[in-house]
Amino acid sequence: MPSPVIKLNSGYDMPQVGFGLWKVDNSVAADVVYNAIKAGYRLFDGACDYGNEVECGKGIARAISEGIVKREDLFIVSKLWNTFHDAERVEPIVKKQLADWGIDYFDLYLIHFPVALEYVDPSVRYPPGWFYDGKSEIRTSKATIQETWTAMESLVAKGLTKSIGISNFQAQLIYDLLRYAKIRPATLQIEHHPYLVQQELLNLAKQEGIAVTAYSSFGPASFLEFNMQHAVKLTPLIEDETIKKIAAKYNREPAQVLLRWATQRGLAVIPKTTRPALMASNFQCTDFDLSEEDIATISSFDRGIRFNQPSNYFPTEYLW
Ligand code: NAD
Repeated sequence: MPSPVIKLNSGYDMPQVGFGLWKVDNSVAADVVYNAIKAGYRLFDGACDYGNEVECGKGIARAISEGIVKREDLFIVSKLWNTFHDAERVEPIVKKQLADWGIDYFDLYLIHFPVALEYVDPSVRYPPGWFYDGKSEIRTSKATIQETWTAMESLVAKGLTKSIGISNFQAQLIYDLLRYAKIRPATLQIEHHPYLVQQELLNLAKQEGIAVTAYSSFGPASFLEFNMQHAVKLTPLIEDETIKKIAAKYNREPAQVLLRWATQRGLAVIPKTTRPALMASNFQCTDFDLSEEDIATISSFDRGIRFNQPSNYFPTEYLW
């Protein structure tokens, strides 16, 4: 069964179930993307920062050359990294990212974080990451979100992306952006899982006609490798007894229940795994319905716990 779609305010349809590309190793990325296409995925969520856009593009090229899909069947998402927020940096980097993928437009291009950092030339280091010196130095740029958003809007006019959106933005910044946006963000991509339900932000997005994509749907699982203490201490959602019980009731996997909880609440999801069996099972997460009661039980896990915030990646002298 293909993924259901979400109608974006830009007029385009976005698959509700897509595939995430963060931490997909360069050595396997082409095969992972190719296998994901064979498993039915059509949306790929990439980013400059993931450092694997060339390899992901190779996986897509292979699937297209074998006639499995056409470019227009795919929905390719990428993101503007923090060091490219200055207006004059936006278009050149999008063009580089498109060339890396081997395509001539993105379906959706997002501001990755509302954090503007000083420009690092791609010939010095690519992807540039958080630190100016590649080690620990944080250098900000003076670019405002308005400057960056205006540059993002010009990408649509030039045909470099069909839709534009934002990621990791909170309410006040969204209200501000909506005051000057000539093109409203089509999507907002945020961390969202039962430990971080963000109901008010979801209400705002709904009211403003902005589709929401959930990332890190399995909660702490994605952050264990950084040895984040608040991730390590929590029960992994996939192993939680209540989630397991609900999954057994529907004869499904806990991961499918976590993804269905999000999709039934109207969000798009972009789970990531390199294992073909899990890829297939994650994709099959919209062909059953949880009861309202089970949705409420899962929502009651909310503890407002966020894993993916910039300070978690900064050296201690930057912590405040
Ligand atoms: P995730 O929550 O999708 O997966 C976390 C871990 O769960 C993975 O390591 C995987 O091995 C494991 N897993 C996946 N399916 C499973 C299953 N069925 N059973 C058991 N374990 C399973 O992780 P994520 O990568 O953090 O998030 C998904 C995507 O969201 C990313 O790849 C990326 O594209 C996007 N993302 C965006 C941002 C942002 O700032 N915009 C931040 C984080 C992630």
